[in-house]
Amino acid sequence: MYECVIVGGGIHGTYLSQRLLEDTDLEREDLLVVDPHERLLESFRRKAAACEMEELRSTFVHHVGTEPFGLETFAESRDREDELRPTPDYPPRPTLSLFLDYADYVIDGNDLDTLHRRATVEAIREPNTDDGALVLETADSRDESSETAEIRTRNCVLAIGHGGRYRQPSWADGVDAIDHVWDGFDPGTRADGTVVVGGGVTAAQLATCLAGREPVTLCTRHELETANSEADPRWINWNHIERHLHRHPPGSKARLETVGEARNDGTIPPTLLERLETAVDDGALSIRHGDVRSARDVDGRVRLLLEDGGCLSADRAVLATGFAPVFEHPFVDRVADELDLERGYRGMPVLDDETLAWQDSSGHATSVFVTGALAAGTVGPLAGNVAGARRAADRLTTGITVDERRPVTAD
Ligand SMILES: Cc1cc2nc3c(=O)[nH]c(=O)nc-3n(C[C@H](O)[C@H](O)[C@H](O)COP(=O)(O)OP(=O)(O)OC[C@H]3O[C@@H](n4cnc5c(N)ncnc54)[C@H](O)[C@@H]3O)c2cc1C
Repeated sequence: MYECVIVGGGIHGTYLSQRLLEDTDLEREDLLVVDPHERLLESFRRKAAACEMEELRSTFVHHVGTEPFGLETFAESRDREDELRPTPDYPPRPTLSLFLDYADYVIDGNDLDTLHRRATVEAIREPNTDDGALVLETADSRDESSETAEIRTRNCVLAIGHGGRYRQPSWADGVDAIDHVWDGFDPGTRADGTVVVGGGVTAAQLATCLAGREPVTLCTRHELETANSEADPRWINWNHIERHLHRHPPGSKARLETVGEARNDGTIPPTLLERLETAVDDGALSIRHGDVRSARDVDGRVRLLLEDGGCLSADRAVLATGFAPVFEHPFVDRVADELDLERGYRGMPVLDDETLAWQDSSGHATSVFVTGALAAGTVGPLAGNVAGARRAADRLTTGITVDERRPVTAD
């Protein structure tokens, strides 16, 4: 039996695995990270590649290592300081390649790959033995015919990000020439014209990159707005989070509204907007404001009909319309139902603010813990970001303790 299994080997799961080893009594053999991809962080790597992201939005102190200035030191020691991009009125931001090279350095240096088991957790069952172990049912992702394997653990952390479900407007259903940027779109394929639908950072990034190669229209329902980060950086501090978020009851509507109001959703960093505007001035990109009403395939092309009566036609359309709400994820529903876990407004997990343990319906902390976007009700508007991984780990490492009765392994 494991002491702790982390479900998800993304930025949060990878970061947390180190903090558990550094800050708690957990030994390597006590810990497992379960993720279906071939390597840790793969989901993030693929999404960043799909929109040809060049640099992170967050600053150089936010990364997967546990030393705040580790990425900066890594850059300096390899003469890669030029990859810490200066940003007006904001600290420097790393290029994607620097961020990922440092992540690989951290993963290799701490041998984190050996903690990774490649599988998807399908369900989590109640403990049915005296040892109180949770039972995780997994499907081995490399072998579709394999039996569902079980993993037993005393504690489990859900670090599933947004759970791989994307916001897909209903007008796009069944139209062949429409892809979601993170679900089947390959930016390397050429087309004779693309409409990118969306008005946030991913849409702006993708449109700007494609613009040098083919005619591109960015179709956004709102004016493009700028913000350096996803929320005011004060939301990184627990004091601020406690004062402004925890004053409302866990799971409450007020908490979700506070998070929603604080998030700069649908905004673009000013440096990216500059690049976008340059592409517009060069005639490589056009911006169309409007809401799509319907879409259809016409002679191998896609035609979008807009609410204002306008029409856009192109070889393909790419949706950069974000994620589906993780609180309503079927896996989250299954786990909550099976373990009788308490849900708040719009399905938000009701967590113990001190430890991020998910409470059961009688208000008791369980041994299921949460990090990432799913923990926004306690960690705040930056919960799903890189900075949120560090904040969540501050509390998870106080809640996840080793069972002192476990058998001691001989060295
Ligand atoms: C293109 C892009 C750029 C971003 N840039 C920034 C940035 O610059 N700064 C910033 O702070 N944030 C940024 N973000 C937001 C955020 O930091 C990332 O989304 C980050 O990947 C979140 O980490 P995570 O571990 O929570 O989720 P993910 O990286 O999505 O990892 C979750 C993992 O859990 C796995 N998983 C899900 N369900 C299961 C299951 N049932 N069983 C097993 N495994 C499961 C998934 O396969 C995945 O590997 C960006 C996001 C995107 C998409």
